[in-house]
Amino acid sequence: MAKAKYVYFFGEGKADGDAKMKELLGGKGANLAEMTNLGIPVPPGFTVTTEVCGSFYENGKKYPEGFKEEALIQLRKLEKLMGKKLGDADDPLLVSVRSGAAVSMPGMMDTILNLGMNDKAVVSLAAKTGNPRFAWDAYRRFIQMFGDVVMGVPHDEFEAILEAAKKARKVELDTGLEVKDLEKLVADYKKVVKKHAKLDFPQDPEEQMWGAIDAVFGSWMNERAIKYRELNSIKGLKGTAVTVQSMVFGNFGDDSGTGVCFSRDPSTGKNEFYGEYLMNAQGEDVVAGIRTPEKIATLAKRNKKVYDQLVAIKDRLEHHFHDMQDMEFTVQQGELFLLQTRNGKRAGAAAIKCAVDMVAEGLIDKNTAIMRVSHEHLDQLLHPMVDPKAIKAAKSLTQGLNASPGAACGKIVFTAKEAEEWAELGERVLLVRKDTSPEDIGGMVVAEGILTSTGGMTSHAAVVARGMGTPCVAGAKGVSVQGKKVVIGDKTFKEGDWMTIDGSTGDVYAGELPLVAPKISKEIEAFLAWCDEVRAGSVRGTVKGFDVRTNADQPEDAKRAFAFGAQGVGLCRTEHMFFDKEKLVHFRAMILADDEQIRKDALKKILPLQKKDFFGIFKAMEGKPVTIRLLDPPLHEFVPHTKEDVAELAKQLGIKAKDLQPKIDKLHESNPMLGHRGCRLAVTYPEIYDMQVEAIVLAAVDCVKKGLPVKPEIMIPIVCDEKELALLRPSAERIVKSVLEKAKVKMDIQIGTMIEVPRAALLAEKIAAYADFFSFGTNDLTQMTFAFSRDDVASFLPVYMEKELLEVDPFKSVDEEGVGILMDWATTKGRSVKPNFKVGICGEQGGDPATIDFCFRTGLNYVSCSPFRVPIARLAGAQAVIRNSKK
Ligand code: PEP
Ligand code: MG
Repeated sequence: MAKAKYVYFFGEGKADGDAKMKELLGGKGANLAEMTNLGIPVPPGFTVTTEVCGSFYENGKKYPEGFKEEALIQLRKLEKLMGKKLGDADDPLLVSVRSGAAVSMPGMMDTILNLGMNDKAVVSLAAKTGNPRFAWDAYRRFIQMFGDVVMGVPHDEFEAILEAAKKARKVELDTGLEVKDLEKLVADYKKVVKKHAKLDFPQDPEEQMWGAIDAVFGSWMNERAIKYRELNSIKGLKGTAVTVQSMVFGNFGDDSGTGVCFSRDPSTGKNEFYGEYLMNAQGEDVVAGIRTPEKIATLAKRNKKVYDQLVAIKDRLEHHFHDMQDMEFTVQQGELFLLQTRNGKRAGAAAIKCAVDMVAEGLIDKNTAIMRVSHEHLDQLLHPMVDPKAIKAAKSLTQGLNASPGAACGKIVFTAKEAEEWAELGERVLLVRKDTSPEDIGGMVVAEGILTSTGGMTSHAAVVARGMGTPCVAGAKGVSVQGKKVVIGDKTFKEGDWMTIDGSTGDVYAGELPLVAPKISKEIEAFLAWCDEVRAGSVRGTVKGFDVRTNADQPEDAKRAFAFGAQGVGLCRTEHMFFDKEKLVHFRAMILADDEQIRKDALKKILPLQKKDFFGIFKAMEGKPVTIRLLDPPLHEFVPHTKEDVAELAKQLGIKAKDLQPKIDKLHESNPMLGHRGCRLAVTYPEIYDMQVEAIVLAAVDCVKKGLPVKPEIMIPIVCDEKELALLRPSAERIVKSVLEKAKVKMDIQIGTMIEVPRAALLAEKIAAYADFFSFGTNDLTQMTFAFSRDDVASFLPVYMEKELLEVDPFKSVDEEGVGILMDWATTKGRSVKPNFKVGICGEQGGDPATIDFCFRTGLNYVSCSPFRVPIARLAGAQAVIRNSKK
């Protein structure tokens, strides 16, 4: 067997690797190779494969045999190409050592710049470049990075020395320090290293290189990288690649600089070159947000040649990768180099705009566009905004950069740790900081929003918040964080005070402003219409299309869902209609009735109220199918529990409280979820379902008489045997027939059943004979399949997840392995009786993208979810179609 290749070289227009090799070379290494092959100016170097990292961890942090020798051969090749040697006393080569996994994990792993610097190299570099300030600055930066990352010296110690030096020189920025200051800094830094690491700062550049490679591999398993992978469900990677690359310097003087740019605006998606740069700086200065960078457009004035070259490169890369690019560049004494390119992370609005625009530009096709927008992206656009009425009255305290869209309110906290502690106690928090760093990730995740006083659009806070869809205002210069307080203009806020930020405009407000739910823009609508087309065009056996319905119990919910694009109501829980006070009295009278007549009298009062709601829902859905489920929950849920409530109800019913209590007690059940609920109620009290069916048909008749299109469907819950349906269906049909005949209206009303009891799934073939459709109630089906009480699962499910007994919460995402088998069986058996049998899902999992994919594969006709999740389901459904037709 041929020996594995561990190291891939790139330089001088030729690379061993290419963009397809991300798994092996990491995203950064693969794209550096690709850019080199394209002839784009990239400083030469070599990439150590992710397999070396994998083997490093498998073998007790030892390198695989032959790796070191191979790396040294490539290092010598690099030295030859550059005409310089690592650690050379006359003309030293300096390199960067960077991490880069197959999936981008911005800022989560370590990087070391200026490697190769030592006491001799600094002198020769100063002489060779004629720029001693640059040479000493490069050395002090290297000691700081290497000391921190490789030797474990606390970063703050270096910072304290640097701050003291700036103070002594009375300057604000590092650039104000002189050669003498930097020489002293180097000496002081070395002392700090000796104190902490009990070792001298290493002078041998090869020793430095192995130390740096070890540290980068080590950072694959650091806490923040592990957390980032967990949060982003990044699984199955071998490790990180390491790229050793010859240095180019943006801090060579005023004709040098460094920046980050995007081929389109990553916040809005506008097709406009977008980015920031700093002259006389190294990359870390831009990302750290210490100095506020300048807009890329100003580079055109400062150095037209470089600007034009950069524009040409970004166009070329975007066309080459067919996607928006996020690039890092450095200009060294007027010469441009690209250090990285990757598909840019983008905010939700930008994801949709880029996708739609790129289709119009012929850069990608519609299916690619659909696959590019994640449900998280879409979700961001469904985030609340500050109520426009409240904005008029509110006064913006200050404005920062609109770094991540959406509005957020919270109690302010100043550290990530506090954010986590407060959130744990159920508080909504807003994280306010000068800037953020990767250590803050835990606090950033739980914060409603993030506000920083420094840093640009590519600062850590901005990038991470955008990725998470958390609203963020960055670089708000008017905000001054002073220990445990923050001063904005003449106002001072302390920990726990409420504040509101608008990440779409950059505004900061005092207090808690009201937020409103967003509307769907024309652009999103157009994009979602493509998704609808894809779903409508799908064919699986006898099933054409894949619809998205909604769960709606009130006309208002139905209206909202319709506006979000719902293609019908998959579940109307009629018991939810009784939460209304007026209806509740009659409902209580009905369930506490001693005899049939009293019950019927109460039902008569309920009928017109239910009819009105049904009419409202039918009207809102404009003729799309509306599945109304007949009464389901255990009756005792509706009786009062406190003494006062019992007394009040007794008064309303005109009886004594002491006479009422025994009736309430009679309804008590030890295990109500498995008790007198669903169709069992109708088996014992047929008049309840009779009234509901009458109300449904009467409402439908009203629609017809008013010229409104209507398509009702009646659904019977908690069925476990076909005989239940054999009993209940004819009664429902009788009422449907009699109401329609009386009204002289013709209408086809389907009567179906929920499959939420495992026995019903197993007997699907028999049950289908009495049903026009099935709808999976996966809340109950999951509860009864796992024997996990859906109301009590919180006491043990988190531990199950922690101990990896379960990978996902089965109440969020359908358990394909168990519950999924029942669904598949029931669908197949149902269709064996009636080939065109309609099957849907209406449990909460119906809005979950993974479940939607499963439902598509299982042949369901539709999914149904809450109104706010309808747009996500429209997208996830289309993605399921595309993903599964590729296979
Ligand atoms: C279900 O069980 O999945 C369902 C939709 O019904 P409910 O949640 O009302 O029990
Ligand atoms: Mg149920």
